[in-house]
Amino acid sequence: MTIIHRRTLLSGLGALGFAASAQLGTVTSAVAQTVPAVPTTPMPRLRRTHELVSLTSVHTDRPRVALTFDDGPHPQNTPHLLDILARYRVKATFYVIGQNARRYPEIVRRIVAEGHELGNHTWTHPVLSRQSDSTILTEIDRTQQMIWDTVGAVPVTMRPPYGSFTHRQMQMLFDQRNLSSVVWSVDPEDWRRPGVSVVAQRMIQGARPGAVILAHDIHGPTIRAVPAALDGILARGLQPVTMSELLAWPHWGPRGLRYVGRATTPYQG
Ligand SMILES: [Zn+2]
Repeated sequence: MTIIHRRTLLSGLGALGFAASAQLGTVTSAVAQTVPAVPTTPMPRLRRTHELVSLTSVHTDRPRVALTFDDGPHPQNTPHLLDILARYRVKATFYVIGQNARRYPEIVRRIVAEGHELGNHTWTHPVLSRQSDSTILTEIDRTQQMIWDTVGAVPVTMRPPYGSFTHRQMQMLFDQRNLSSVVWSVDPEDWRRPGVSVVAQRMIQGARPGAVILAHDIHGPTIRAVPAALDGILARGLQPVTMSELLAWPHWGPRGLRYVGRATTPYQG
């Protein structure tokens, strides 16, 4: 009797669950459509090589460097930086924190509209080397989802906060999500606030073909260092480009939008 009762109860719950799903049809189908709509393999499946799993710089003879800005968007500093980059007609990569992207979607849209690239810098900026694989994937997926919802494209690279990510974790993420982990080869340590001219000088001194230059667009002094840094980098005959361009990958971003044409026009420096 008890068993029958339990079975009845369970099937009753099952039916209730089904009914609830059916009633919430729009919500359920919206979720079902949105999740697979985020391309987890936005690029052709990459063959796993050490360089693609984890990057600090790129082997290239071309005189190009990638300028990368982490931790934004910031409500004042990021727009200020975008004004400077527009003046120099230079494109950069913004490794945004998912939570910040959610707070400032207009700035995220402006970043993309002006031809820059977005990278995934996790949702909450944790020390990933201390996290489980499932937490890492949640941090990455939530951010991919937010960026997809905001601009209709998903990042093709991620940057681990503090550069703290084990090689096994990088391989796991590459295998699970086709995402390369990009660290850096030039760190001006701008977060220590050494002063505007020191930050600029360190960015210039480290710049060489294939370099990945790290900076943070949440710090005012970093933004103020960018014009001098760009002057110095350009004077050395190096062209700042996005991460995808440095890697000679297909152009990042939503296809068929006008900015794609603008972004692919030759840079004047
Ligand atoms: Zn960071």
